[in-house]
Amino acid sequence: MTAPPKAPIPVKPSYWHDIWDAIVTILKGMAVTIKNFGRVVFLRQATTITKKWGSRPIALRYRGTIGLTIDRRTGKENCIGCLACERICPDHCIHIETIDEKPGHKGKYPVVFIIDNNLCSLCGLCVEACPTPALIHTELWQIGGYSHKDLVFDKQRLMEIGEWQQERWIRMGLGTVDKVTGKKSMQMTDEEWQAEEEKKKAAAAARAQRAVAARQQTQVRTQRSSGHSEAKSEAASDEKSTTET
Ligand code: SF4
Ligand code: SF4
Repeated sequence: MTAPPKAPIPVKPSYWHDIWDAIVTILKGMAVTIKNFGRVVFLRQATTITKKWGSRPIALRYRGTIGLTIDRRTGKENCIGCLACERICPDHCIHIETIDEKPGHKGKYPVVFIIDNNLCSLCGLCVEACPTPALIHTELWQIGGYSHKDLVFDKQRLMEIGEWQQERWIRMGLGTVDKVTGKKSMQMTDEEWQAEEEKKKAAAAARAQRAVAARQQTQVRTQRSSGHSEAKSEAASDEKSTTET
């Protein structure tokens, strides 16, 4: 049996080569430091900036604290109480209670809407699942409090946050929440709501009229058919009596 070939012995760099390597590495590091020093001090282009220089604009896709919105056109809440967000939330931090109807509001109306920010991981699933532009991520990233209770936001707080964000989008020229999110609000103005109600009433009245007409036609048909059968039986009995005589 032949012995396996020996692995080649690595050539060790020389002592002076090591020193040269160290110098080059230090110079490379210093070049980066000096370049960034110049950018920060002279060009004010810091990667990390202190508060006294203001704050960086937050990216539009930033997933900050969740807010609830209203439809600016109709002035009504965008939420239709479908509970899709509550069901999909992996952290179970959304709690909603709805009533079936509120005059002027399309869909169910959420009387209670709570998000527990102690649990929320800002995963964004609720925002994606929402069929309307009701739920949004905002630019807020600095929410805090002195107790866990301070981070449990009720509907009013969520709406304030949503409204603040919507105001900002409008000021930035991005438009209302439906334009930014690409989702359509289901709410209607009071006039549109009234017109729809009247249309529904008219349709219901037309249906009722059709039903009455159909009932009358059936009655007439039944009377006619009973009249025919009576006439037939009379004729039959007449015929019988003639044959007997
Ligand atoms: S962002 Fe995620 S964790 Fe937070 S409320 Fe929405 S679904 Fe729940
Ligand atoms: S916020 Fe959106 S998903 Fe949640 S209940 Fe309202 S409409 Fe449905």
